[in-house]
Amino acid sequence: MQYPETLNKLIQILKSLPGIGPRMAERVAMHILKMETPDINNFAYTLIDVNQKIKNCSTCHAITEIDPCEICTSTTRDTSIICIVEQPSDIFAIEKTNDFHGLYHVLNGVISPIDGISPGDLNIRTLLTRINEDVNEIIVATNPNVEGEATSIYLAKILKPLGVKISRIAHGVPVGSDLEYIDSMTILKAFEGRQKI
Ligand SMILES: [Zn+2]
Repeated sequence: MQYPETLNKLIQILKSLPGIGPRMAERVAMHILKMETPDINNFAYTLIDVNQKIKNCSTCHAITEIDPCEICTSTTRDTSIICIVEQPSDIFAIEKTNDFHGLYHVLNGVISPIDGISPGDLNIRTLLTRINEDVNEIIVATNPNVEGEATSIYLAKILKPLGVKISRIAHGVPVGSDLEYIDSMTILKAFEGRQKI
């Protein structure tokens, strides 16, 4: 006997999520079947809410409900430093350290010829428009892997003529790892040990 059509559809959707294989998708679907109606409604409306309310900040491309985001509009942040990250989730990882008080800029990826991602696909043009006389330092906090390094070298090349100091986070961050999975202390050390490039 096959799963009823609607249940099968749910399993297919769950399976398409990252880190969820076929077995896990079935388990989660069976759990959802047992949930009470108010909880199911809450779950469904939260998905719709997230889809409708969360957008990207038009200045830094962080995920936010208000545009510009609360970091870009904050009066207490240090507007002389911009930290460049790959993904919006990296901002949350760095914010957890409570030590960085500058602004951010999300590239939305890294240069990767294998995946067909070129500089033109990243949020570099909007970065260039943000660099003015207020900005003293750009910290490149792309992940410590081949693509992250190549991207940081590219950024240094195009930012240097603008007369701004460019630094790269130190390699306290394990090579090949993702910033969002690294503990706050390691990120803190990587920022403290950043080097001019
Ligand atoms: Zn922003």
